[in-house]
Amino acid sequence: MGLEPFLFRRSGCLVGARSGELSSEVEGEVGRFSLRDLGRDEYAVFTLDLCHNGVDRHFSRFPDEELETINGMVPGRPLMERHDLKGSLPRGTFFRSCLHREGDRVSVRPDVYVMRTGENADFILNIEGGVYRETSIGFAFETPECSICHKDLRTCDHVPGRSYGDESCHYVMRNVLDVIEGSVVPSGSQGTRFVSEARALPLSEALVAGREAFHRPIGLASQGGSRVWARE
Ligand SMILES: [Zn+2]
Repeated sequence: MGLEPFLFRRSGCLVGARSGELSSEVEGEVGRFSLRDLGRDEYAVFTLDLCHNGVDRHFSRFPDEELETINGMVPGRPLMERHDLKGSLPRGTFFRSCLHREGDRVSVRPDVYVMRTGENADFILNIEGGVYRETSIGFAFETPECSICHKDLRTCDHVPGRSYGDESCHYVMRNVLDVIEGSVVPSGSQGTRFVSEARALPLSEALVAGREAFHRPIGLASQGGSRVWARE
């Protein structure tokens, strides 16, 4: 059964700017990507929280081992604006990444450098000024694992967000295949959507489509304004 991987986005936040820091370590790491030696005042460095291991508002969650995979994939990937891979060139390059731990929370926290070109001046200013403060990661993963029965969510009947006994169903994103880009998005505009082909669908609809592809019959019913799945 050929189930297609999901292309997905997840939101995070900017955690800081490192504008004043003079560090040979930063220069060395940025130098792995630049074609000539750059002066430290030629670029701005920002730190982002790209994704974490908590259950998000779309009832998805990364397990720690997938965060490690993502962490390894991020350096070298582009920083975009609003996931616009077709209409614009990258604003920056992620040049290093680490796993940040705070209690039980683990997040992927990369640093990105943005050249201080005339064209990037407004972009940098908007980040420094706190207007662009939200981020989002574009990535592909293979398997949405059900937190209740641990099967592929497309092959079981559990519904993310619904409670089963004491447990609330969510899906665990397994087998991350690629990190495509990280984006800065204007405050308030983040949203998690599928990004290509027929997958410009909200999560619930994409899962329904995935389930239909896997086994029939699946009936779709609407209840109290929210979508639910019911197998016939
Ligand atoms: Zn299940």
